[in-house]
Amino acid sequence: MQNTKNDMLYRTLCEINGAEYVLCDEPMKKHTTFRIGGPARFFCQPGSAEQLSRTVRACEEAETPWYILGNGSNTLVSDAGYDGVVIQLFHNLEAVRIEGCLMELEAGVLLVKAAHLAAKAGLTGLEFASGIPGTIGGALVMNAGAYGGEMKDVIREALVMKQDGTLLRLSREELELGYRTSIIAREGYVVLSALLELREGNAAEIEARMQELKEARTTKQPLDYPSAGSTFKRPEGYFAGKLIMDSGLRGYRVGGAQVSEKHCGFVINTGDATAQDVMDLIAHVQKEVREQFGVKLEMEIKTLGF
Ligand SMILES: Cc1cc2nc3c(=O)[nH]c(=O)nc-3n(C[C@H](O)[C@H](O)[C@H](O)COP(=O)(O)OP(=O)(O)OC[C@H]3O[C@@H](n4cnc5c(N)ncnc54)[C@H](O)[C@@H]3O)c2cc1C
Repeated sequence: MQNTKNDMLYRTLCEINGAEYVLCDEPMKKHTTFRIGGPARFFCQPGSAEQLSRTVRACEEAETPWYILGNGSNTLVSDAGYDGVVIQLFHNLEAVRIEGCLMELEAGVLLVKAAHLAAKAGLTGLEFASGIPGTIGGALVMNAGAYGGEMKDVIREALVMKQDGTLLRLSREELELGYRTSIIAREGYVVLSALLELREGNAAEIEARMQELKEARTTKQPLDYPSAGSTFKRPEGYFAGKLIMDSGLRGYRVGGAQVSEKHCGFVINTGDATAQDVMDLIAHVQKEVREQFGVKLEMEIKTLGF
């Protein structure tokens, strides 16, 4: 019975997206910047908003869980994988349109690309995002931010899809963007596109600022190891990395997972880390920081399949 249901869902997903865009038992380590994660039952890459909406509907009808993935730069997938459909919006849905100071981007566009296109067009405001390795969709859900800027500063409105397929256009206020959160995350909406409002600037100065931020990242962050960026949210009044360092956990390891020696706010995969190694390491860090400083560290990274 389960097999028949599976076969039917697989056939439907292929009909909607084309067979080459539907993979079975796809290892998620290939699609996350942590380079960790077991297989997804199905892995699908819709090529349009319509295919995306039909894919979600097919999953709902088959009572099969689904998960939207961007570039997987903030996601840890379990070693057992995900018994559902991963719908990836990256390398697809990546149209960009610039008109005056407005920049319309589909959800699958990488922030890095968006920042460079803005710079080329002489538009300022998106420099902060030039080193964040996520998609526009992932960045909006998380209200991604760095070096004093965040998505909230540049978003004018977003087109999202509700789980029942209805489309909604949400203004900046309606998106309720807060520290690493939004109404999109709370309601489980899917981002289809975002309209950013930037300002006129000087292309050379914008490029110079992005270069400066790149150097700051390279100096401070362990970019030569797979990771999902900052593991924990910033607790009010503290810095997670400093608390972890002051707890004596710099370089602390569980299996292949390690608290980065370069930046204690990052858990890195030294080569053969399992998702369980990462979770055990995170639990240990949370326990030590709570015991030593009375501060609760909340995970920033999203988990899938646990
Ligand atoms: C080296 C490194 C540095 C980083 N630096 C920063 C930083 O400076 N600032 C920062 O904020 N983050 C940083 N990050 C984390 C990460 O890049 C951001 O959170 C990014 O916005 C996640 O985008 P993504 O497409 O990779 O999301 P994913 O990891 O694919 O998904 C993250 C969440 O968003 C959801 N999602 C993704 N796309 C959509 C969509 N279209 N619609 C609805 N939901 C969606 C997923 O379901 C999941 O819940 C860093 C990560 C790394 C590896």
